[in-house]
Amino acid sequence: MSLLAEDTDVADLGLRWKPGFSTLGPAFFTALQPTPLPDPYWVCRSEAVARELGLPADWPSDSTLSALTGSMQIAGTQPFATVYSGHQFGVWAGQLGDGRAIMIGETEAGLEVQLKGAGRTPYSRGGDGRAVLRSSIREFLCSEAMHGLGIPTTRALCVTGSDARVRREELESAAVVTRVAPSFIRFGHFEHFAANQREDELRALADYVIDRYYPACRTTERFDGNAYAAFLEAVSERTAALLAQWQAVGFCHGVMNTDNMSILGLTIDYGPFQFLDGFDPRHICNHSDTGGRYAFNQQPNVAYWNLFCLAQALLPLIGDQEVAVAALESYKTVFPTEFEARMRAKLGLTDSAEGDRALIEGVLKLLAAGKVDYTIFWRRLSHFMADGQVEPVRDLFLDREGFDAWLLLFSERHVKGQRSQAADLMLKSNPKFVLRNHLGQQAIEASQQKDNSGVAVLLALLETPFEEHPGADAYAGFPPDWASTIEISCSS
Ligand code: AMP
Ligand code: MG
Repeated sequence: MSLLAEDTDVADLGLRWKPGFSTLGPAFFTALQPTPLPDPYWVCRSEAVARELGLPADWPSDSTLSALTGSMQIAGTQPFATVYSGHQFGVWAGQLGDGRAIMIGETEAGLEVQLKGAGRTPYSRGGDGRAVLRSSIREFLCSEAMHGLGIPTTRALCVTGSDARVRREELESAAVVTRVAPSFIRFGHFEHFAANQREDELRALADYVIDRYYPACRTTERFDGNAYAAFLEAVSERTAALLAQWQAVGFCHGVMNTDNMSILGLTIDYGPFQFLDGFDPRHICNHSDTGGRYAFNQQPNVAYWNLFCLAQALLPLIGDQEVAVAALESYKTVFPTEFEARMRAKLGLTDSAEGDRALIEGVLKLLAAGKVDYTIFWRRLSHFMADGQVEPVRDLFLDREGFDAWLLLFSERHVKGQRSQAADLMLKSNPKFVLRNHLGQQAIEASQQKDNSGVAVLLALLETPFEEHPGADAYAGFPPDWASTIEISCSS
């Protein structure tokens, strides 16, 4: 696969690497080099991720740029692409794998570094192994936005672009996202070895993930000490907690195939995602999802369906179907509990009371009936708690009577508490800035004209989305009319 000459220079990123996923052996990956992208340039960088990785202060050098776009090898690494399978849109899709993501390696601190869009691999299945600038910027910004919101996610160090063209619906410029995460292992990795009846590899993979990321499963007394059942339960719980956060913030993933589900409960593989504008529980953000399988309000059920696929894959290790089903059960309690906890924080409540569920359901019903802007509503409600001015939030509703009735219940619930404390909690729980489609779109269009300043501005806001950022109100306003005409599909 490599276009690199034998004597290609080697870049030293100043990182120390250790053997990680590759210790699983050749059944799990194919070693290869990225395919160089010509004449690369920087599009955007996250200094926060650079710090987390432990990169030196002068990391954005020419040699780093070359290394992250495949023109220089990286000292101490042996890149590879991993194999996985998965269910796509509810149907078994067979073998997939890293078709355009190439793993550089794992740092000594335990972070994997991956280049997405770095060229063809044995798993490309007819694809070109590339990613377009547009989707790379979306992935970069949303990774960092989710992190800023406190939602588990893979991270993004940078986007590097090139004038090389790739064909999607039209010709577009290519780019690479450098992604960072403790692990990029997906449910689909387990499904792959289960479907191929390779129990030894399945067990090796499960042992690797348990030992590294879920060590408590080794010593648990749950399920009579069955570590694989405990592992399935722990993944179910993390996934439930993640989905609760998505639903509370109004995030629609768009392609919740089992190969896009992280075994660590991280948000992974940003494609046609969307933060809701007007609140519509049935919103479908993926233009390719004609059946609405991944509509916003379907996400919690789909995650459970995906966990069921994982359970099936783990069954040979767990050994007993009833135990596997029991291990999934926790999802059904953790999701609603976590969701209510998140919504209570949005409402400024630090304790729970009997009417809370009705209060939450009541406001969501009102928001849906009026298709009220989700992010703006919560932020204005937070300010109402702080300053007592009801008009800005009330004005969002056509059904004023309905809103007043709900607000009365809300105010009664807060009657005993300190309003200023509640307001603080609300302002920390209800972001001012989310990555709305139109904001991403504007930044992308400027970047396509080689002006990357819009991406940098958005990054700075989204890294700390709960802060006011005086002067940036234009990024916290209602979406323009044209926002609803943006069509985001699987094409990336
Ligand atoms: P996604 O829907 O982006 O999660 O991708 C599903 C599968 O298609 C994964 O195996 C990807 O690696 C692969 N894939 C997506 N786009 C490309 C591409 N341009 N070239 C090669 N493989 C791709
Ligand atoms: Mg994917």
